[in-house]
Amino acid sequence: MYDVAVIGGGPAGLSAAIQVRARGRSVLVVSGDLRDNPLYKTERIDNYLGFYDVTGGELLERFRSHARQMGVEEKEGRVLNIMPMNGTFYLSVGSEMEQARAVVLATGVVRSAKYPGEGEHLGAGVSYCATCDGMLYRGKEVAVVGLAADAPQEANWLKEIGCKVTYVSPNPADGLRSDIPAVKAGKLEVLGEQKVEGLRAGGTTIPCEGVFILRPSMAPAELLPGLELEGSYIKVDGNMATSIPGVFAAGDCTGLPLQVSKAVGEGQVAGHRAAEYLEYIS
Ligand SMILES: Cc1cc2nc3c(=O)[nH]c(=O)nc-3n(C[C@H](O)[C@H](O)[C@H](O)COP(=O)(O)OP(=O)(O)OC[C@H]3O[C@@H](n4cnc5c(N)ncnc54)[C@H](O)[C@@H]3O)c2cc1C
Repeated sequence: MYDVAVIGGGPAGLSAAIQVRARGRSVLVVSGDLRDNPLYKTERIDNYLGFYDVTGGELLERFRSHARQMGVEEKEGRVLNIMPMNGTFYLSVGSEMEQARAVVLATGVVRSAKYPGEGEHLGAGVSYCATCDGMLYRGKEVAVVGLAADAPQEANWLKEIGCKVTYVSPNPADGLRSDIPAVKAGKLEVLGEQKVEGLRAGGTTIPCEGVFILRPSMAPAELLPGLELEGSYIKVDGNMATSIPGVFAAGDCTGLPLQVSKAVGEGQVAGHRAAEYLEYIS
């Protein structure tokens, strides 16, 4: 069990994590593939104090290195769900579970909306986790919607366990096995009555029983049901506290301006207050 779990390894999450460590508490940062961070490919940043003319990748590496030197623990993976129970938060990370006494949400912004038919078929053929649900589709036709950087590897794994995979994405499928057909499409619709029967991708229909939609991030309200929002952003007070006791939020996920300095500043407050919260409840 960790004192604090931070969801998201961007500027806000890493800033929060070092504050937690500065107060002598344990912290785990769970984050998706580094390539999914918006900073990773940003060629030049001029407006972060002390780092004129730096690439986003360099800045992110400096943040990560700092966090590691302060004893921040890291886990690569997608948090699918957070469940509060008796003062503990249970985090589903792929098919694994992590526990913490407080949580900082630093998930950035979700850059793709839900597809038609997606919500209706969640749990009835639509899945967000290949590792969790892949075995259910051995020998069956599935479509992998690749929006996250690690999606081709997930599609390869589904193929290896015996699924009949079609890969669908608007992005290049770097690392995808050559025996997996790839369809380039961005306009999608999940088809079927009670359960998934196909995926409409651009002008073609792919018959399938399962659709794995692999995004780099999840909408906050889906991660933690009951979380109060303001528009599409997480509602926070001046202490970066959300509507759920023990849950704090920082960075792009709390609203404009979407900038590194704001993310780092809010992360500092969220990490500090999360550590203070632990002192208050123990
Ligand atoms: C092209 C571009 C150029 C930019 N240029 C600048 C600039 O010059 N100056 C500036 O100040 N800002 C710039 N920005 C904005 C800046 O990148 C963001 O404001 C900043 O990265 C926000 O930090 P964050 O930590 O809140 O979120 P992010 O950096 O988005 O980090 C969130 C992390 O959380 C992970 N994550 C999300 N959901 C989950 C989940 N469920 N499970 C596990 N991990 C999850 C994501 O994969 C991501 O790594 C730019 C952005 C873009 C897209």
